[in-house]
Amino acid sequence: MLVNEHVRFGEGGTGDPAMGDRPLLYREVEEWYVTFSCEVPEPEKLPVNAEDVGIDLGVTHLATLSTGEMIEHPRYYRKAQKVLEKRQQALSRKKRGSHRREKARQLVAKAHRKIARQRKDFQQKAAKHLVDRYQVLVFEDIQTSNLTRKPKPKQDENGKYLPNGAAAKGGLNKSILDAGWRSFVQICSIKAAWAGRTIIKVDPAFTSQICSGCGQVRKKDLSERWHSCDCGTELDRDVNAAMNILERGRRQRGATCVEAPCL
Ligand SMILES: [Zn+2]
Repeated sequence: MLVNEHVRFGEGGTGDPAMGDRPLLYREVEEWYVTFSCEVPEPEKLPVNAEDVGIDLGVTHLATLSTGEMIEHPRYYRKAQKVLEKRQQALSRKKRGSHRREKARQLVAKAHRKIARQRKDFQQKAAKHLVDRYQVLVFEDIQTSNLTRKPKPKQDENGKYLPNGAAAKGGLNKSILDAGWRSFVQICSIKAAWAGRTIIKVDPAFTSQICSGCGQVRKKDLSERWHSCDCGTELDRDVNAAMNILERGRRQRGATCVEAPCL
């Protein structure tokens, strides 16, 4: 965008000219940003199809679909996390109130920003992939309160997952995972609304424990990656969960018949 010297910037509000606000100019972690709003044509809805999908968000994979397909956590997370950890350690060694501490704090903020940008880019593409293909996307309702109800891998005091089967492969920082799940659902919701698709959020209780084949509870701890049931159902643990999520979505949808996408 070209900004000529006649543009004047505001200091508050939304940056929306319709609200009488000027564009906002601000500085954050050594970079300048400008926010402004503009009108864009209504996005075109995608043709309606009959496909629906259940999506399980997890530690070992970002998302597992009821179809069996898996979306991995982006590889660069691991690299970015190493940088973040080093910088956080460096920060903790600096004296409070010192100039060096402030410098170190900026470096930590930059690492966070880089991860957030990479995540957004990756998730935009993954979300488009899903919204293009499916009419109805069913997620677990991952409010913070619900997250604690999921069986969680062990964590150390820094929130980092300890190697215990499921987490060993992932090894991702909890804060990165939490932010990743939330933003992924949010991005999917926005894209779905634009495309005329439907997002359903269902109760996450016991989705990984219930057998998608017969409905019985098959208790397993997080290190068990395979769902095996007396009824003959043999499935990857997360695929089983995704199928339960889809089933709940179908029931919920049938019960309410609400077609509007929920944001
Ligand atoms: Zn079964």
